[in-house]
Amino acid sequence: MIDEEKFNKVYDKFTRAFGKESEMRMCIEEMSELTKELCKFMRYSRNDKSDENDKKLEDIKKNIIEETADVIICASQIKRLFGDDEVEKVMNYKIERGEKIVDDFISKHKIGD
Ligand SMILES: [Mg+2]
Repeated sequence: MIDEEKFNKVYDKFTRAFGKESEMRMCIEEMSELTKELCKFMRYSRNDKSDENDKKLEDIKKNIIEETADVIICASQIKRLFGDDEVEKVMNYKIERGEKIVDDFISKHKIGD
């Protein structure tokens, strides 16, 4: 579990030290790193099975975990910079809308649990 109070304290320091633009640039950089690792995972997942390929996939999985953590941290920082409450309001709306879409799809295609 993330200690939100600690997170806020540390990331306020980042913004004070480096500025808002730096935080936005970091987020863009981290999102591209995760994008790259996900592309690599899908590419290596299509390869024939081999010890070498399995090792590569394991390394990529570790990178995906690290880059996911980076993106979540940066996105949380962007959320704080632009408005926690507004972002959460939109998130709630999208979750509700998403549930209706997926429930309709499941019902239409008769997908079981
Ligand atoms: Mg990274």
